Amino acid sequence: MRTEHEHRWTTESAHATSEGLVSYQRCACGRRRVTLAPAVTVAAPAAR
Ligand SMILES: [Zn+2]
Repeated sequence: MRTEHEHRWTTESAHATSEGLVSYQRCACGRRRVTLAPAVTVAAPAAR
């Protein structure tokens, strides 16, 4: 379909939750999405 294009996501708002940072994004075409960026990774690889 020709409506397909590379969305340019602009963050409208974001707020931190216990799950991580939730970002509400929107493209110029009107499409919206919500992304969840997990909280800072604490799991450090076993140093050995
Ligand atoms: Zn778009």
